[in-house]
Amino acid sequence: MLNTNSCTRAVEDVKNSSGAELQSRWNKPGVCGLDNSGNSCYLNAVLQCLCSTVPLVEHLLNQDARKEFAKCRCRVAEVFARLLEKMWLGSSSICAPAETRSVLCSIFPQFNNFSQQDAQELLLYLLNALHDDLKKVAKRQTHFLKQPRKEPNRNIDAEPTIVSHLFEGQLSYTTICMHCDHQAHNTQSFTILSLPLPKDTSKCSIQDCLSLFFEETLLTGSEQMLCSECGLRRETTVLTRLEKPPEILLLHLKRFGRKGKNQVKLRTNVLFSMKLDLSAFLSCSEQNASAYHLYAVVNHMGHLNMGHYTAVCYNGPTQSWHCFDDAVLREVEDTHIQSPDVYMLLYSHKPFQKPKIQGL
Ligand SMILES: [Zn+2]
Repeated sequence: MLNTNSCTRAVEDVKNSSGAELQSRWNKPGVCGLDNSGNSCYLNAVLQCLCSTVPLVEHLLNQDARKEFAKCRCRVAEVFARLLEKMWLGSSSICAPAETRSVLCSIFPQFNNFSQQDAQELLLYLLNALHDDLKKVAKRQTHFLKQPRKEPNRNIDAEPTIVSHLFEGQLSYTTICMHCDHQAHNTQSFTILSLPLPKDTSKCSIQDCLSLFFEETLLTGSEQMLCSECGLRRETTVLTRLEKPPEILLLHLKRFGRKGKNQVKLRTNVLFSMKLDLSAFLSCSEQNASAYHLYAVVNHMGHLNMGHYTAVCYNGPTQSWHCFDDAVLREVEDTHIQSPDVYMLLYSHKPFQKPKIQGL
C-alpha cells in the first residue's frame, strides 16, 4: 500500500523514561539525504542512484548474502550494505556515507582528497570494486558446491555477480574493408554508454545522442584498420550495435570535452523521456528486451571544476520521485525531472516495485 502520510519530517530517535533508545522508523524507506564530507556531492549523487536500484539493494541487504560478504571479507560490499541498511531501514532522513568513502579512498587513492571528481568515473570504479568483491563470494560458492568445472583454469574475471548480471551489456562491432568488402565481427562488454552530443545545436533529445553513438563511422587516415583479407591497413566502415541490452542501462552524456587546448563543458539541453526504446540499435530482433524505464538522473550544475552534483531518484515504496542535494531532499513531480543539467541517466528494463527487504 502507498504510504499516504504526508509528514516528511525526519523521525528522530526518542528516549523513553528509562533512557534506553526507542528507534522509530523514518517513514520513507530508501529516501535518505547524505551528508557532504567536503566536495563529496559527486559521491552522494552516485550513492543515491545505487540506493534506488532496487534489485541491487535487495541483493546486498539479503541476510544470507551478507553472511557470505563477512566470510569472504568483501569490504566494499559490507560497508555499502551497511549504508543501504541505514538508508532503507534507518531511523533518520539523513546519514553520513563516511565509511563507504574511506573504503573507496583506500582502494582508489585518486578519490582520497577533497577536490571535485567526475560522478561517471566514480560510478564505474565503484561498480568494478563491488564486482571484484562479490567474485570472491561466487568463487567460494563454486568451491563449496564442488561444481564440476568444464575448464580447469576457469577465469575468475568471468565469474558473474549481481553487478555484471544487472549492469553489463554487450556491443557488437562489424567492420567492413572499403577495398575488398571483407567483414569482421567482434563484441565488447560495457557498463556505461558514454554518448556524444550533437554539435552546433543547443537542444537535442537522448535519442539523437544514441543515434550519434550508433552511427556508422568511416575510419580513414591514421585510423585505418588492418584488413585480414588484404593484409594491409584500409579505410574501414564500423557499424556498432547493441548485442545484449543490459538489465540496467547507464547512460552518460559527454559534456566535458575539449575545444582546442581548453577543456569545456557542453551545455546542450538534452531532452529525455521516462521510457526509452533501443530497438533501432539492436543487432538482433530481440525487441522485447529493448524497452527501458527511467529511475534515476544525475545532474551537474555549474562549471567544469567548480560544479555541483545532485540526483533525482524514483522510490518504489512511495512511488514518488525525490531530488537529493547532499543532505537536503525534496519530493518532485515526475513532470519536473527534465533538466538542462542532466549528466547521467539510469534506466531499468523492468519497472521497480517495492523491494523485498527483510524488516521493511
Ligand atoms: Zn580488405
